[in-house]
Amino acid sequence: MARVVIDNVSKQYGGLQVLHNLSVEIEDGKFVVLVGPSGCGKSTLLRMIAGLETISGGEMNIDGRVVNDLAPRERDIAMVFQNYALYPHMTVADNMSFALRLMRRDKEEIGKRIDHASGILALTPYLARKPAALSGGQRQRVAMGRAIVRDPKVFLFDEPLSNLDAKLRVQMRAEIRDLHDRLKTTTIYVTHDQTEAMTMADQIVVLNQGRIEQVGTPLELYKSPANLFVAGFIGSPA
Ligand code: ADP
Ligand code: MG
Repeated sequence: MARVVIDNVSKQYGGLQVLHNLSVEIEDGKFVVLVGPSGCGKSTLLRMIAGLETISGGEMNIDGRVVNDLAPRERDIAMVFQNYALYPHMTVADNMSFALRLMRRDKEEIGKRIDHASGILALTPYLARKPAALSGGQRQRVAMGRAIVRDPKVFLFDEPLSNLDAKLRVQMRAEIRDLHDRLKTTTIYVTHDQTEAMTMADQIVVLNQGRIEQVGTPLELYKSPANLFVAGFIGSPA
């Protein structure tokens, strides 16, 4: 069964239609990359899945539930943003546990989850530090830790690596993919970077001007691009 079903979904801002009747199914446990040029509607779609934008038309289903009218915290998702949005005055541990404390989870449970996440992310030595005393890669990991401790059904990433230098970006690609291979949490990852899409994805959804051009594995897109846009964007020889 698909974990996230997007059925004929559209979005308008005032009179401007930015997403046109999108339909796609995200299979359980897959790492799906939503790729396309800047302004094509990637963040809008991801924010609609997260519940941070209203849905103008169609239906969104997560884990068997229609979520159109559910608040973000009722959707069992966790989102990692481009700018991490860490709290500068809180330690790494407090940043990671903030949402759980808001939900009034018990202290022992929170402690276990932080141990688990910080172990996976190699953050255990840094739990008492503030974000300012961390490297860019470590801050990125704290942002991921904050998502992991919530044990969501779906991870959403919006261009999480675009603030990192090129070398770190390549390293973090591998780390995020490795994390997924360990946790197997269904992931929807937004990027405008074709290389990121081709190296990280199980499935790629190519978006252009608010429409889906093609859905397929990296190899399928490379070997059989549906049209010239996909061929040009993915960089295949067709
Ligand atoms: P991407 O993430 O692919 O770069 P976005 O989803 O951010 O694209 O934006 C898609 C389109 O929607 C763009 O034309 C953008 O200007 C427009 N848009 C995004 N957010 C808003 C908003 N809050 N109000 C009006 N237009 C918006
Ligand atoms: Mg965006």
